[in-house]
Amino acid sequence: REGVIIMGATNRPDVLDVALLRPGRFDRRITINVPDIKEREEILALHMRGKPIAKGVDIKILARRTPGFVGADLENLVNEASLLAAREGKDKIGMKELEESIDRVIAGPEKKSRVMREREKKIISYHESGHTLVGNLLPFADPIYKVSIIPRGSAALGYTLQLPLEDKYLATKSELLDKLTTLLAGRASEELIFNEVSTGAQDDLKKATYLARKMVCDYGMSEKLGPVALGSNSEVFLGRDLLKEKNYSEELAFNVDEEIHNIVESCYQKALDILKKHKDKLIRLAKRLEEKEILNKEEIEEAIGLSLIHI
Ligand code: ZN
Repeated sequence: REGVIIMGATNRPDVLDVALLRPGRFDRRITINVPDIKEREEILALHMRGKPIAKGVDIKILARRTPGFVGADLENLVNEASLLAAREGKDKIGMKELEESIDRVIAGPEKKSRVMREREKKIISYHESGHTLVGNLLPFADPIYKVSIIPRGSAALGYTLQLPLEDKYLATKSELLDKLTTLLAGRASEELIFNEVSTGAQDDLKKATYLARKMVCDYGMSEKLGPVALGSNSEVFLGRDLLKEKNYSEELAFNVDEEIHNIVESCYQKALDILKKHKDKLIRLAKRLEEKEILNKEEIEEAIGLSLIHI
């Protein structure tokens, strides 16, 4: 029949068979993210409409206290608050009931993993600000024009746009090194500010190691090993890793690993040095990010006091 539209929803687009997503099948994807602070404010206002809300209720404060809450959590929050108010014989829902409900919703068993704690929020702010600052200070890195600490999907904690790992055009060694340094800057920022690191950099480290391996094994960019292609064991076929036969000696394999290690290590050190030197900018950016949760290009420029001219 004509004019029939089929829609599906999933929390795990990453595990869908690609054939399902080809044109003519499910060919449009609409990503619905967890709401940011401004959006939470609007959702709260929506659910409070028609309810007896007391004077002095500050929706802005409630929105700020609920990072990680989705629409259903916010609706739940308002309902819980009505129940609390009713139980106490009040005819209006006050700030006290609403704030108490936040804790109730956070304490709900299945919500625990999703809702962000204050300290987590701070760590993620510094992590993402590290990427953002270093990415914008390095001459060959992809400029970062948007940064957020609101989780997207299942893997990443926050996200920093735009860090394409595999470019469609030719990349020079300088560009790859700057990209690597930017990738590692999240962890470097955590180390610099909190004097310890979290698990938040897992995906960054994976990407960075992958990139360094490609540089050494596929692009011949290691000075020590020279312009040779060694095969990086990273080809994926139908979702399965095809382990390539190693066609080089144990000694060479050792040198490859050492070179990868050296590249990652020196880029990490560079990220750390840049952040140390610009610590004031990092703190300003992270504070702004923690407060607003999402920053666009102008807001990033304002926080770090520099124009992102190479955009
Ligand atoms: Zn990161």
